[in-house]
Amino acid sequence: MIKLTVLYDNEACPGFAGSWGFSALIETGKEILLFDTGWDGTLLLKHMEKIGIDPASISKLVLSHQHWDHIGGLPEILHANPGLTVYVPSSFSENLKREIKKRANLVEIKEAVEISNGIWSTGELGDKIKEQSLVLSTENGSYVLTGCAHPGIDAIMDAALCHGNIKGIIGGLHDGERFERLKEMELIAAGHCTVHKEKIKVAFPSKYKETRAGVLFELR
Ligand SMILES: [Zn+2]
Ligand SMILES: [Zn+2]
Repeated sequence: MIKLTVLYDNEACPGFAGSWGFSALIETGKEILLFDTGWDGTLLLKHMEKIGIDPASISKLVLSHQHWDHIGGLPEILHANPGLTVYVPSSFSENLKREIKKRANLVEIKEAVEISNGIWSTGELGDKIKEQSLVLSTENGSYVLTGCAHPGIDAIMDAALCHGNIKGIIGGLHDGERFERLKEMELIAAGHCTVHKEKIKVAFPSKYKETRAGVLFELR
């Protein structure tokens, strides 16, 4: 079982604050990973404290793409955890990569690669805005975790399919309308920048789950 807690989202559960951006914490039982950082690092650390996570216990940070609402919390998280390994799409700006290298171990991602046991990057996808998504594999199937899904649902799902049956998707889906790619899934947790939340909710009422800061998904 993989525990995924939404730490940062445009919307929030009571006790958490909504703020434009996305971040999720992944606990595999062996390792703790962070996916994106929202834009306000102080708020991100506050939400970590609220769920009882010490930022120093995170071993890996995966940044989906170089947009302000996904990387804004980077300075605070590097300050709180100097030993972190940071995975970025290789298309990140050279200046930003140089700055990250000064404070952390930087890994540039081009092709699909296993980042932790059962957790894969799709590799850098997309043309205009390059982005990596994660595939989280459990004994019973795999789940896709997206930042904004700028490369499109099709490109991300095509890249994820080599991990077998995709049981669910969590994260931002931007303006994606290829809902037929979602219909076989059990969990559709579209949050952050997803434009068509209402349409997705209506199309898949039993599978749609609200995604907001403070929500915990137990992925099996
Ligand atoms: Zn975004
Ligand atoms: Zn974006």
